[in-house]
Amino acid sequence: MSEKPKKSEAVEEPVVMQKLVSLAKRRGLIFQSSEIYGGLRSAYDYGPLGVELKRNIKNLWWRTMVHEREDVVGIDASIIMHPRVWEASGHVAGFTDPLVDCRACQNRFRADKAPTAEDGKIRCPNCGSGNLSDVRKFNLMFKTHLGPVEDDSAVVFLRPETAQAMFVNFLNVQQSYRLKPPFGIAQQGKSFRNEITVEHFTFRSCEFEQMEMEYFVPPPQYSDEGKGPDYWYDYWRKLRLNWYTETLGIRAEKLRLREHDAAELAHYAKGCADVEYDYPWGWGELEGIASRSDFDLTQHQKFSGKKLTYFDPDKKAHYLPWVIEPAAGADRTALAVLIDAYDEEPPPPDAKGDNVEPRVVLRLDPRVAPIKVAVLPLVKKEGMPERAREIIRAFFKNGVNAFYDEKDAVGRRYRRQDEVGTPFCITVDGQTAQDQTVTLRYRDDMQQDRIKIADALETVTKKVMAGGRDVRKPG
Ligand code: ATP
Repeated sequence: MSEKPKKSEAVEEPVVMQKLVSLAKRRGLIFQSSEIYGGLRSAYDYGPLGVELKRNIKNLWWRTMVHEREDVVGIDASIIMHPRVWEASGHVAGFTDPLVDCRACQNRFRADKAPTAEDGKIRCPNCGSGNLSDVRKFNLMFKTHLGPVEDDSAVVFLRPETAQAMFVNFLNVQQSYRLKPPFGIAQQGKSFRNEITVEHFTFRSCEFEQMEMEYFVPPPQYSDEGKGPDYWYDYWRKLRLNWYTETLGIRAEKLRLREHDAAELAHYAKGCADVEYDYPWGWGELEGIASRSDFDLTQHQKFSGKKLTYFDPDKKAHYLPWVIEPAAGADRTALAVLIDAYDEEPPPPDAKGDNVEPRVVLRLDPRVAPIKVAVLPLVKKEGMPERAREIIRAFFKNGVNAFYDEKDAVGRRYRRQDEVGTPFCITVDGQTAQDQTVTLRYRDDMQQDRIKIADALETVTKKVMAGGRDVRKPG
């Protein structure tokens, strides 16, 4: 694997978030929901470039987890499910955070996130007062009503995770596809949690997208030699950690796998590990991989009264499979990808014109970059715009997202593309009409090659398909 170019030392970590949030807003990546009304603290909108970035991440996940695997299929279930689902899953009784009110400043916060004083009692994280209410349990599920009557019988919830639809549909999908454990069911979609503390931009919000897969394996007594649930737990932990580096181009030294200790584990769990990223505020979860025994199917069998066992024709046994669950978040991943890619290069000592400012560059892997190649006519005349648009059409035929820009001097256009992580720029000039050549400029080192249009198309398309963290190295 090629090395991603090193980041320059210019940006200090705590400053990165401020710079990134302002870049995200300025360049239409991510901004607060309903901004003209003062904004909502807990919800975010993805702009024209942000939607491309997040979609690339989701598509890469789908490709790795569904398309490229013979043993995993996808579903797209509804957000509103039968309310009994959430009783069976334990969310009605147990999906709570400990909530405390500060009597001094009216601040409301999570008791488990508050600082503790020397006497062992918690203090308000806002004003430091110890004059606090009792701890109350606060359920994180959003409640609403199905139909016109707002009584208790009509209460439904917005799903707080996508996973339950895979359990509820386990037999449907297994039978319609004649699947044999081990096999997986995957889903991507919105989930909702009424988080008490929303924090760190999109890291923790109330509406977010998950990418989850439930992998159903035979229980230990029916497993093939050496292929029990522990084997698959280990298998998915390794695969999922590597995905962030190999497919998204995140630097390996910024990722780790953190195994939960016994106190953190749910009673039914056989193991749980988080893939964590070293965010500017510290290590934070990107994805959890859990070995869940047959807890979920047992619960749904009990609450629905429907038999959910699988008949294994080889073992001649009916059983409830055990489950390994890799559960990731699309928004947290997008944020980690952006933070990891953000860089600023100080201007060279002899800088002039547009080059006196530090160069802001997102060193994104071409696979996740919102725009793969910008095609720029040097001037808006002599047929250059038409030739540039022809090249753009050729890129779209190859499935490569290309972008046309004719505004301002070409140096400024390059800077605009660097800032949003576009790995390549192609400039069409007067010579192009004569000899079918263009300049191909590389984002990371700003070097330019004069090459034939056909070669530029091939170089860029190959690199965008193959990915790899150094845009100079062919895919
Ligand atoms: P945390 O401990 O950070 O609250 P969690 O352990 O509750 O996360 P899971 O229930 O395991 O999270 O959900 C799987 C993934 O969904 C998380 O790894 C994360 O990427 C994403 N996710 C969960 N809650 C949120 C949220 N409030 N905002 C954004 N993403 C979230």
